[in-house]
Amino acid sequence: MSVKRPKIKGKKKHKNKPTSKKASKYKIEDGKLVKARSCPRCGPGIFLAVSNGRSYCGRCHLTEFDKKEVDAKLEK
Ligand SMILES: [Zn+2]
Repeated sequence: MSVKRPKIKGKKKHKNKPTSKKASKYKIEDGKLVKARSCPRCGPGIFLAVSNGRSYCGRCHLTEFDKKEVDAKLEK
């Protein structure tokens, strides 16, 4: 009986992961910090999730509609 088993190499290596995707909302362009749209109710630091035609705040559940998208829909 010789069943090959994969060698157990102790614990898995720990990888540092960002706990939130907030860091991706900040960008540096031409040496200046560019922030994504933040929630008007929650203030800076709380960003809006953007989906088709609207942006949504996950903290206070505020939904903002983009004016251009709303106008386009009303015209149809
Ligand atoms: Zn909010």
